[in-house]
Amino acid sequence: MEKRITGHTELLGLIATPIRHSKSPVMHNAACRALGLDYAYLAFDIQPDQLEDAVKGFKALNVRGWNVSMPYKTSIGQYLDHITPIAKMCGAINTVINDNGVLTGTITDGTGYMNALKDQGIDIIGKKMTIVGAGGAATAIVMQAALDGVKEISIFNIKDASWNRALENVEKINSQTKCKAQLFDLNDHETLRKEINESAIFTNATNVGMGKLEGQMVLPDTSYLRKDLIVSDVIYMPEKTKLLEEAEKVGCQTINGLGMMLYQGAASFKLWTDQDMPIDKVKEALD
Ligand code: NAD
Repeated sequence: MEKRITGHTELLGLIATPIRHSKSPVMHNAACRALGLDYAYLAFDIQPDQLEDAVKGFKALNVRGWNVSMPYKTSIGQYLDHITPIAKMCGAINTVINDNGVLTGTITDGTGYMNALKDQGIDIIGKKMTIVGAGGAATAIVMQAALDGVKEISIFNIKDASWNRALENVEKINSQTKCKAQLFDLNDHETLRKEINESAIFTNATNVGMGKLEGQMVLPDTSYLRKDLIVSDVIYMPEKTKLLEEAEKVGCQTINGLGMMLYQGAASFKLWTDQDMPIDKVKEALD
């Protein structure tokens, strides 16, 4: 690393708190190394009362760009010059691009999800999707899927704090895209079965399957699945959630959240460097 850093090296980074668990520095530094790009990517643990100063500091130091993670995805926008339409639709920013002092905020999580599907040869354009969740991950996915040309999206959520966001998401999709979106209560099992039956893909975009909810799944049982249904999960730790395990047993093609994580990074990398992230090299570095 010391050999790679010179007087010409420019800075990329990530701001969040907590931050030390992040895989982004390994990903982006491996990509720069593989392509011979003269950037270094560092993680900055920023406290809420330092956010504005951090943005001003990055601008003054001409940092080329940075990722934004929790808890700043919804609050950083007020310190930027421009926000892209997709970030406005999602109400969240995960990437800032610094063009000679002009700061633009965007979000690449949804593109990451859609490109991860493409990478596995999965095409859902013109088809119907059923997704559970209305938090940050789910919102980014449904907005991008709707903009990319998914025909219908059926969103299921429990009646918790995310329910209102789910209502807003449906309203935005129906008024701002050609996609038809509907919201249902996750406890309405009859409708859940009907919507999944009509869908090409079923996606879990909730925490169910990880942490305290590891070993659980958002479906009551596997009778909701069929062999030609694609089943995806935004979770990648564990690598295989209970949902993906059960879907595999039924014979479904499955995809976990690692691809989404890699491809959201690749999309940010492209915005900063104009280069395609060498995904295979980055995967090797993460192993
Ligand atoms: P969030 O807190 O914003 O939203 C959580 C969602 O889960 C809400 O819709 C909530 O209603 C739902 N939920 C919570 N408990 C539930 C339960 N018991 N039953 C049914 N639904 C429940 O969280 P988020 O940021 O959207 O993250 C959700 C998941 O996505 C996390 O597991 C996170 O690790 C993962 N994630 C993955 C990536 C990736 O790149 N692969 C990116 C972001 C988030």
